[in-house]
Amino acid sequence: MKAFESSTYYFNQAADILGLEESWRTLLLTPKREVQVQVPVEMDDGSLQTFIGYRVQHDNARGPFKGGLRYHPEVDLDEVRALASLMTWKTAVVDLPYGGAKGGIALNPRELSRRELERITRVFIDQIHDVIGPDIDIPAPDMGTNADVMAWIMNQYGKYHGFSPGVVTSKPIELFGMPGREEATGREVGILTIKLIGRLGKKAKDCTVAIQGFGNVGSHAAKLLSEADFKVVAISDLSGAYYAPNGIPVMDAIRYANQNQNSLKGFSECELISNQQLLELDVDVLIPAALGGVIHEENVHSIRAKTIIEAANGPVLPEADCVLQEKGITVLPDILANAGGVSASYFEWVQNRQHYRWTLDRVRQELDALMLRAFDHVWDVAKERKVSLRVAAFAVGIERVRRATYLAGVN
Ligand code: NAD
Repeated sequence: MKAFESSTYYFNQAADILGLEESWRTLLLTPKREVQVQVPVEMDDGSLQTFIGYRVQHDNARGPFKGGLRYHPEVDLDEVRALASLMTWKTAVVDLPYGGAKGGIALNPRELSRRELERITRVFIDQIHDVIGPDIDIPAPDMGTNADVMAWIMNQYGKYHGFSPGVVTSKPIELFGMPGREEATGREVGILTIKLIGRLGKKAKDCTVAIQGFGNVGSHAAKLLSEADFKVVAISDLSGAYYAPNGIPVMDAIRYANQNQNSLKGFSECELISNQQLLELDVDVLIPAALGGVIHEENVHSIRAKTIIEAANGPVLPEADCVLQEKGITVLPDILANAGGVSASYFEWVQNRQHYRWTLDRVRQELDALMLRAFDHVWDVAKERKVSLRVAAFAVGIERVRRATYLAGVN
Protein backbone atom coordinates (compact mmCIF):
# COMPACT_ATOMS: atom_id res chain seq x y z
CA MET A 1 0.00 0.00 0.00
CA LYS A 2 1.24 3.53 -0.77
CA ALA A 3 1.46 5.99 2.13
CA PHE A 4 -1.76 7.90 1.42
CA GLU A 5 -3.67 4.65 0.82
CA SER A 6 -2.53 3.42 4.27
CA SER A 7 -3.62 6.55 6.12
CA THR A 8 -6.95 6.51 4.24
CA TYR A 9 -7.44 2.87 5.24
CA TYR A 10 -7.11 3.78 8.94
CA PHE A 11 -9.36 6.82 8.42
CA ASN A 12 -12.09 4.64 6.88
CA GLN A 13 -11.93 2.06 9.68
CA ALA A 14 -12.79 4.81 12.17
CA ALA A 15 -15.23 6.56 9.82
CA ASP A 16 -17.16 3.26 9.64
CA ILE A 17 -17.71 3.11 13.39
CA LEU A 18 -18.71 6.80 13.38
CA GLY A 19 -21.20 6.11 10.56
CA LEU A 20 -19.69 9.00 8.58
CA GLU A 21 -21.40 9.61 5.24
CA GLU A 22 -19.47 9.39 1.99
CA SER A 23 -19.71 13.14 1.34
CA TRP A 24 -18.09 13.91 4.71
CA ARG A 25 -15.37 11.34 4.11
CA THR A 26 -14.51 13.02 0.81
CA LEU A 27 -14.49 16.46 2.41
CA LEU A 28 -12.31 15.43 5.36
CA LEU A 29 -9.87 13.42 3.24
CA THR A 30 -9.33 16.06 0.57
CA PRO A 31 -6.40 18.38 1.34
CA LYS A 32 -7.26 22.09 1.42
CA ARG A 33 -4.20 23.10 -0.54
CA GLU A 34 -1.23 21.34 -2.15
CA VAL A 35 1.73 23.47 -3.13
CA GLN A 36 4.56 22.20 -5.32
CA VAL A 37 7.37 24.60 -6.11
CA GLN A 38 10.59 24.77 -8.04
CA VAL A 39 13.65 25.42 -5.85
CA PRO A 40 16.58 26.44 -8.10
CA VAL A 41 19.86 26.84 -6.23
CA GLU A 42 23.45 27.62 -7.14
CA MET A 43 25.61 24.92 -5.55
CA ASP A 44 29.03 25.44 -3.90
CA ASP A 45 30.82 24.35 -7.10
CA GLY A 46 28.95 26.95 -9.16
CA SER A 47 26.59 24.47 -10.84
CA LEU A 48 22.82 25.02 -10.90
CA GLN A 49 20.48 22.44 -9.38
CA THR A 50 16.71 22.43 -9.29
CA PHE A 51 14.93 20.75 -6.38
CA ILE A 52 11.20 20.18 -5.91
CA GLY A 53 9.56 21.37 -2.70
CA TYR A 54 6.11 20.47 -1.37
CA ARG A 55 3.74 21.80 1.26
CA VAL A 56 0.43 20.02 1.72
CA GLN A 57 -2.07 21.83 3.95
CA HIS A 58 -4.59 19.17 4.77
CA ASP A 59 -7.06 20.75 7.16
CA ASN A 60 -7.40 23.89 9.29
CA ALA A 61 -10.89 23.55 10.75
CA ARG A 62 -9.46 23.55 14.32
CA GLY A 63 -6.65 26.10 13.90
CA PRO A 64 -3.61 26.93 11.75
CA PHE A 65 -2.07 24.13 9.70
CA LYS A 66 0.81 22.46 11.59
CA GLY A 67 3.38 19.91 10.51
CA GLY A 68 6.99 19.08 9.83
CA LEU A 69 9.30 19.67 6.90
CA ARG A 70 11.19 16.62 5.63
CA TYR A 71 14.47 16.63 3.66
CA HIS A 72 14.88 13.16 2.18
CA PRO A 73 15.53 11.77 -1.32
CA GLU A 74 12.26 9.81 -1.33
CA VAL A 75 9.98 12.76 -0.52
CA ASP A 76 7.06 12.87 -2.97
CA LEU A 77 3.57 14.28 -3.05
CA ASP A 78 1.89 11.01 -2.01
CA GLU A 79 4.02 10.69 1.12
CA VAL A 80 3.66 14.36 2.07
CA ARG A 81 -0.12 14.15 1.57
CA ALA A 82 -0.35 11.07 3.83
CA LEU A 83 1.77 12.67 6.55
CA ALA A 84 -0.25 15.91 6.33
CA SER A 85 -3.52 14.07 6.94
CA LEU A 86 -1.98 12.15 9.86
CA MET A 87 -1.08 15.53 11.40
CA THR A 88 -4.73 16.60 11.21
CA TRP A 89 -5.87 13.57 13.23
CA LYS A 90 -2.85 13.80 15.56
CA THR A 91 -3.40 17.44 16.56
CA ALA A 92 -7.11 16.71 17.00
CA VAL A 93 -6.64 13.59 19.12
CA VAL A 94 -4.53 15.51 21.66
CA ASP A 95 -6.88 18.49 21.29
CA LEU A 96 -4.42 21.14 20.11
CA PRO A 97 -5.86 24.22 18.38
CA TYR A 98 -4.21 23.24 15.10
CA GLY A 99 -4.92 21.52 11.83
CA GLY A 100 -2.54 19.34 9.84
CA ALA A 101 0.13 19.93 7.20
CA LYS A 102 3.44 18.51 6.03
CA GLY A 103 6.15 19.60 3.66
CA GLY A 104 9.35 18.40 2.18
CA ILE A 105 12.06 18.71 -0.40
CA ALA A 106 13.38 15.73 -2.33
CA LEU A 107 17.11 15.82 -1.54
CA ASN A 108 19.75 13.99 0.45
CA PRO A 109 20.98 16.33 3.20
CA ARG A 110 24.09 14.17 3.73
CA GLU A 111 25.29 15.01 0.21
CA LEU A 112 24.94 18.78 0.68
CA SER A 113 27.02 21.35 2.52
CA ARG A 114 25.53 23.44 5.30
CA ARG A 115 25.63 26.52 3.05
CA GLU A 116 23.80 24.63 0.28
CA LEU A 117 21.11 23.47 2.72
CA GLU A 118 20.68 27.02 3.95
CA ARG A 119 20.32 28.40 0.40
CA ILE A 120 17.81 25.67 -0.53
CA THR A 121 15.78 26.41 2.61
CA ARG A 122 15.75 30.15 1.96
CA VAL A 123 14.71 29.75 -1.71
CA PHE A 124 11.95 27.33 -0.65
CA ILE A 125 10.65 29.91 1.85
CA ASP A 126 10.81 32.61 -0.86
CA GLN A 127 8.38 30.40 -2.82
CA ILE A 128 5.94 29.58 0.00
CA HIS A 129 6.18 32.51 2.47
CA ASP A 130 2.75 33.81 1.55
CA VAL A 131 1.00 30.53 2.45
CA ILE A 132 2.71 30.00 5.85
CA GLY A 133 2.70 32.17 9.00
CA PRO A 134 2.04 32.02 12.77
CA ASP A 135 -1.74 32.12 12.16
CA ILE A 136 -1.71 30.23 8.86
CA ASP A 137 0.70 27.30 8.77
CA ILE A 138 3.56 26.57 11.18
CA PRO A 139 6.32 24.20 9.97
CA ALA A 140 8.61 22.23 12.30
CA PRO A 141 11.50 19.78 11.82
CA ASP A 142 11.03 16.26 10.51
CA MET A 143 13.50 13.75 9.03
CA GLY A 144 16.56 15.55 7.66
CA THR A 145 15.75 18.95 9.16
CA ASN A 146 16.58 20.40 12.57
CA ALA A 147 16.63 23.53 14.73
CA ASP A 148 19.16 25.21 12.40
CA VAL A 149 16.78 24.85 9.44
CA MET A 150 13.98 26.33 11.58
CA ALA A 151 16.19 29.33 12.42
CA TRP A 152 16.81 29.98 8.69
CA ILE A 153 13.08 29.72 7.99
CA MET A 154 12.24 32.19 10.77
CA ASN A 155 14.86 34.59 9.47
CA GLN A 156 13.82 34.32 5.80
CA TYR A 157 10.11 34.61 6.60
CA GLY A 158 10.89 37.68 8.75
CA LYS A 159 12.39 39.46 5.73
CA TYR A 160 8.93 39.51 4.15
CA HIS A 161 6.64 39.71 7.19
CA GLY A 162 8.71 41.17 10.06
CA PHE A 163 9.63 39.59 13.41
CA SER A 164 7.57 36.36 13.69
CA PRO A 165 9.16 33.68 15.91
CA GLY A 166 5.84 31.78 15.94
CA VAL A 167 6.14 30.92 12.23
CA VAL A 168 8.12 27.74 13.04
CA THR A 169 8.66 25.58 16.13
CA SER A 170 11.60 23.57 17.50
CA LYS A 171 13.87 26.54 17.03
CA PRO A 172 17.25 26.76 18.81
CA ILE A 173 16.70 27.66 22.48
CA GLU A 174 18.74 30.85 22.03
CA LEU A 175 16.41 31.85 19.21
CA PHE A 176 12.92 31.63 20.75
CA GLY A 177 13.02 27.83 21.14
CA MET A 178 11.97 26.04 24.31
CA PRO A 179 13.74 23.82 26.84
CA GLY A 180 12.12 20.39 26.81
CA ARG A 181 11.14 20.42 23.12
CA GLU A 182 13.96 18.12 22.06
CA GLU A 183 13.18 15.39 24.60
CA ALA A 184 9.39 15.79 24.30
CA THR A 185 8.47 13.05 21.82
CA GLY A 186 10.62 10.34 23.41
CA ARG A 187 9.70 11.41 26.93
CA GLU A 188 5.97 11.18 26.17
CA VAL A 189 6.42 7.85 24.38
CA GLY A 190 7.82 6.71 27.74
CA ILE A 191 5.07 8.35 29.83
CA LEU A 192 2.32 6.75 27.72
CA THR A 193 4.08 3.36 27.77
CA ILE A 194 4.08 3.46 31.59
CA LYS A 195 0.39 4.38 31.57
CA LEU A 196 -0.56 1.66 29.07
CA ILE A 197 1.40 -1.05 30.87
CA GLY A 198 -0.39 -0.05 34.09
CA ARG A 199 -3.77 -0.27 32.36
CA LEU A 200 -2.87 -3.74 31.07
CA GLY A 201 -2.30 -4.77 34.70
CA LYS A 202 1.47 -5.21 34.46
CA LYS A 203 4.34 -3.78 36.49
CA ALA A 204 7.28 -1.90 34.98
CA LYS A 205 9.86 -4.03 36.78
CA ASP A 206 8.47 -7.18 35.11
CA CYS A 207 8.56 -5.71 31.60
CA THR A 208 11.24 -6.01 28.95
CA VAL A 209 11.56 -3.43 26.17
CA ALA A 210 13.13 -3.44 22.69
CA ILE A 211 13.57 -0.14 20.84
CA GLN A 212 14.31 0.20 17.14
CA GLY A 213 16.09 3.52 16.44
CA PHE A 214 18.29 5.29 18.96
CA GLY A 215 18.00 8.86 17.71
CA ASN A 216 16.12 11.66 19.37
CA VAL A 217 12.91 9.72 20.07
CA GLY A 218 14.34 6.25 20.77
CA SER A 219 17.07 7.42 23.15
CA HIS A 220 14.80 9.69 25.23
CA ALA A 221 12.18 6.94 25.46
CA ALA A 222 14.87 4.44 26.54
CA LYS A 223 16.13 6.83 29.21
CA LEU A 224 12.70 7.50 30.70
CA LEU A 225 11.70 3.83 30.68
CA SER A 226 14.93 2.60 32.25
CA GLU A 227 14.55 5.26 34.95
CA ALA A 228 11.01 3.96 35.50
CA ASP A 229 12.35 0.42 36.16
CA PHE A 230 11.62 -1.19 32.78
CA LYS A 231 14.34 -3.53 31.53
CA VAL A 232 15.51 -2.24 28.14
CA VAL A 233 16.99 -5.38 26.55
CA ALA A 234 17.58 -4.20 22.97
CA ILE A 235 18.30 -0.94 21.15
CA SER A 236 19.32 -0.32 17.57
CA ASP A 237 20.27 2.13 14.88
CA LEU A 238 21.52 2.03 11.30
CA SER A 239 24.66 0.19 12.48
CA GLY A 240 22.68 -2.81 13.81
CA ALA A 241 20.87 -3.94 16.98
CA TYR A 242 22.39 -4.42 20.43
CA TYR A 243 20.88 -7.06 22.73
CA ALA A 244 21.50 -7.74 26.43
CA PRO A 245 18.90 -10.04 28.07
CA ASN A 246 19.84 -8.75 31.53
CA GLY A 247 19.34 -5.13 30.52
CA ILE A 248 21.28 -2.53 28.57
CA PRO A 249 23.00 0.25 30.54
CA VAL A 250 20.99 2.93 28.75
CA MET A 251 22.90 5.97 30.02
CA ASP A 252 26.18 4.34 28.88
CA ALA A 253 24.65 3.78 25.44
CA ILE A 254 23.49 7.42 25.23
CA ARG A 255 26.93 8.68 26.25
CA TYR A 256 28.55 6.30 23.76
CA ALA A 257 26.34 7.49 20.88
CA ASN A 258 26.91 11.15 21.80
CA GLN A 259 30.66 10.66 21.58
CA ASN A 260 30.40 8.59 18.40
CA GLN A 261 28.57 10.89 15.95
CA ASN A 262 25.17 9.65 17.18
CA SER A 263 26.01 6.05 16.27
CA LEU A 264 26.03 2.91 18.44
CA LYS A 265 28.56 1.25 16.11
CA GLY A 266 31.08 -0.55 18.30
CA PHE A 267 28.96 -0.40 21.50
CA SER A 268 30.47 -3.44 23.16
CA GLU A 269 28.40 -4.26 26.22
CA CYS A 270 25.85 -6.29 24.22
CA GLU A 271 25.35 -9.05 21.65
CA LEU A 272 25.08 -7.72 18.10
CA ILE A 273 21.88 -8.83 16.33
CA SER A 274 20.06 -7.54 13.22
CA ASN A 275 17.29 -4.95 13.21
CA GLN A 276 14.95 -7.67 11.96
CA GLN A 277 15.85 -9.91 14.93
CA LEU A 278 15.17 -7.00 17.29
CA LEU A 279 11.65 -6.65 15.91
CA GLU A 280 11.05 -10.36 16.51
CA LEU A 281 12.26 -10.50 20.13
CA ASP A 282 9.94 -11.97 22.75
CA VAL A 283 9.55 -8.77 24.80
CA ASP A 284 6.70 -7.08 26.65
CA VAL A 285 7.09 -3.79 24.79
CA LEU A 286 8.39 -3.17 21.28
CA ILE A 287 8.98 0.46 20.30
CA PRO A 288 9.68 1.08 16.61
CA ALA A 289 11.25 4.56 16.72
CA ALA A 290 13.04 4.75 13.37
CA LEU A 291 11.22 4.32 10.06
CA GLY A 292 7.72 3.81 8.70
CA GLY A 293 6.54 0.43 7.36
CA VAL A 294 8.88 -1.80 9.41
CA ILE A 295 6.12 -4.22 10.48
CA HIS A 296 4.47 -5.56 7.36
CA GLU A 297 2.75 -8.56 5.78
CA GLU A 298 5.95 -10.60 5.53
CA ASN A 299 7.31 -10.22 9.08
CA VAL A 300 4.16 -9.71 11.14
CA HIS A 301 3.76 -13.44 11.87
CA SER A 302 7.18 -13.44 13.55
CA ILE A 303 6.37 -10.56 15.92
CA ARG A 304 6.30 -11.84 19.52
CA ALA A 305 6.04 -8.59 21.51
CA LYS A 306 2.92 -8.25 23.68
CA THR A 307 2.59 -4.49 23.17
CA ILE A 308 3.76 -2.17 20.38
CA ILE A 309 4.20 1.56 20.88
CA GLU A 310 4.33 3.38 17.54
CA ALA A 311 6.95 6.05 18.23
CA ALA A 312 7.81 6.38 14.52
CA ASN A 313 5.20 7.56 12.04
CA GLY A 314 3.42 4.63 10.36
CA PRO A 315 5.68 1.75 11.50
CA VAL A 316 2.84 -0.80 11.19
CA LEU A 317 1.26 -1.21 7.76
CA PRO A 318 -2.51 -1.89 7.60
CA GLU A 319 -2.03 -5.49 6.34
CA ALA A 320 0.04 -6.20 9.46
CA ASP A 321 -2.21 -4.26 11.81
CA CYS A 322 -5.10 -6.74 11.26
CA VAL A 323 -2.80 -9.67 12.08
CA LEU A 324 -1.51 -7.99 15.25
CA GLN A 325 -5.10 -7.49 16.39
CA GLU A 326 -5.95 -11.14 15.72
CA LYS A 327 -2.88 -12.13 17.75
CA GLY A 328 -4.10 -9.96 20.66
CA ILE A 329 -1.11 -7.61 20.51
CA THR A 330 -1.98 -4.14 21.84
CA VAL A 331 -0.81 -1.30 19.59
CA LEU A 332 -0.60 2.30 20.79
CA PRO A 333 -1.00 4.20 17.49
CA ASP A 334 1.41 6.85 16.22
CA ILE A 335 -1.14 9.66 16.16
CA LEU A 336 -1.29 9.39 19.95
CA ALA A 337 2.03 7.77 20.92
CA ASN A 338 4.30 10.34 19.25
CA ALA A 339 2.07 13.41 19.67
CA GLY A 340 4.30 14.70 22.50
CA GLY A 341 6.44 16.43 19.87
CA VAL A 342 3.72 18.54 18.30
CA SER A 343 2.22 19.21 21.73
CA ALA A 344 5.54 20.62 22.93
CA SER A 345 5.70 22.64 19.70
CA TYR A 346 2.32 24.08 20.60
CA PHE A 347 3.72 25.25 23.96
CA GLU A 348 6.67 26.87 22.19
CA TRP A 349 4.28 28.69 19.83
CA VAL A 350 2.13 29.84 22.77
CA GLN A 351 5.21 31.32 24.46
CA ASN A 352 6.34 32.98 21.22
CA ARG A 353 2.91 34.60 20.86
CA GLN A 354 3.06 35.83 24.47
CA HIS A 355 6.76 36.80 24.41
CA TYR A 356 7.11 34.81 27.60
CA ARG A 357 9.22 31.83 28.71
CA TRP A 358 8.21 28.80 30.75
CA THR A 359 10.59 26.77 32.92
CA LEU A 360 11.48 23.21 31.95
CA ASP A 361 9.44 21.95 34.91
CA ARG A 362 6.34 23.74 33.69
CA VAL A 363 6.82 22.40 30.14
CA ARG A 364 7.09 18.82 31.43
CA GLN A 365 4.15 19.16 33.77
CA GLU A 366 1.80 20.64 31.17
CA LEU A 367 2.96 18.15 28.54
CA ASP A 368 2.49 15.08 30.74
CA ALA A 369 -0.97 16.30 31.77
CA LEU A 370 -2.06 16.98 28.17
CA MET A 371 -0.83 13.62 26.89
CA LEU A 372 -2.30 11.59 29.75
CA ARG A 373 -5.67 13.34 29.27
CA ALA A 374 -5.61 12.36 25.59
CA PHE A 375 -4.61 8.78 26.44
CA ASP A 376 -7.44 8.41 28.98
CA HIS A 377 -9.99 9.68 26.49
CA VAL A 378 -8.84 7.33 23.72
CA TRP A 379 -8.70 4.41 26.16
CA ASP A 380 -12.29 5.07 27.29
CA VAL A 381 -13.56 5.33 23.69
CA ALA A 382 -11.79 2.05 22.81
CA LYS A 383 -13.43 0.26 25.76
CA GLU A 384 -16.85 1.81 25.17
CA ARG A 385 -16.93 1.02 21.45
CA LYS A 386 -14.98 -2.25 21.75
CA VAL A 387 -12.42 -1.20 19.15
CA SER A 388 -8.63 -1.02 18.98
CA LEU A 389 -6.76 1.98 20.37
CA ARG A 390 -5.94 2.95 16.76
CA VAL A 391 -9.56 3.00 15.65
CA ALA A 392 -10.51 4.88 18.83
CA ALA A 393 -7.77 7.49 18.33
CA PHE A 394 -8.77 8.07 14.70
CA ALA A 395 -12.44 8.24 15.71
CA VAL A 396 -11.71 10.90 18.36
CA GLY A 397 -9.63 12.96 15.91
CA ILE A 398 -12.05 12.66 13.00
CA GLU A 399 -15.10 13.51 15.10
CA ARG A 400 -13.42 16.66 16.48
CA VAL A 401 -12.47 17.84 12.98
CA ARG A 402 -15.90 16.99 11.57
CA ARG A 403 -17.63 18.89 14.37
CA ALA A 404 -15.43 21.99 13.95
CA THR A 405 -16.02 21.92 10.18
CA TYR A 406 -19.76 21.55 10.68
CA LEU A 407 -19.96 24.36 13.28
CA ALA A 408 -17.99 26.79 11.12
CA GLY A 409 -20.12 25.92 8.08
CA VAL A 410 -18.75 24.49 4.89
CA ASN A 411 -19.81 27.25 2.49
P1 NAD B 1 16.50 10.57 14.36
O1 NAD B 1 17.02 10.85 13.00
O2 NAD B 1 16.98 11.38 15.52
O3 NAD B 1 16.76 9.03 14.74
C1 NAD B 1 16.41 7.98 13.88
C2 NAD B 1 17.11 6.74 14.40
O4 NAD B 1 16.71 5.63 13.60
C3 NAD B 1 18.64 6.79 14.31
O5 NAD B 1 19.19 6.15 15.43
C4 NAD B 1 18.94 5.99 13.05
O6 NAD B 1 20.24 5.41 13.05
C5 NAD B 1 17.87 4.94 13.16
N1 NAD B 1 17.58 4.27 11.89
C6 NAD B 1 17.47 4.80 10.66
N2 NAD B 1 17.24 3.85 9.75
C7 NAD B 1 17.20 2.69 10.45
C8 NAD B 1 17.02 1.35 10.09
N3 NAD B 1 16.85 1.00 8.81
N4 NAD B 1 17.01 0.42 11.07
C9 NAD B 1 17.20 0.77 12.36
N5 NAD B 1 17.40 2.02 12.76
C10 NAD B 1 17.42 2.96 11.82
O7 NAD B 1 14.90 10.66 14.22
P2 NAD B 1 13.85 10.88 15.39
O8 NAD B 1 13.56 12.33 15.50
O9 NAD B 1 14.25 10.08 16.57
O10 NAD B 1 12.54 10.23 14.71
C11 NAD B 1 12.32 8.83 14.71
C12 NAD B 1 10.91 8.56 14.21
O11 NAD B 1 9.97 9.25 15.04
C13 NAD B 1 10.61 9.03 12.78
O12 NAD B 1 9.71 8.11 12.22
C14 NAD B 1 9.90 10.36 12.99
O13 NAD B 1 9.05 10.68 11.90
C15 NAD B 1 9.11 10.05 14.24
N6 NAD B 1 8.72 11.25 15.00
C16 NAD B 1 9.67 12.09 15.50
C17 NAD B 1 9.28 13.20 16.23
C18 NAD B 1 10.28 14.13 16.85
O14 NAD B 1 9.87 15.05 17.57
N7 NAD B 1 11.57 13.91 16.66
C19 NAD B 1 7.91 13.47 16.42
C20 NAD B 1 6.96 12.59 15.89
C21 NAD B 1 7.40 11.48 15.17
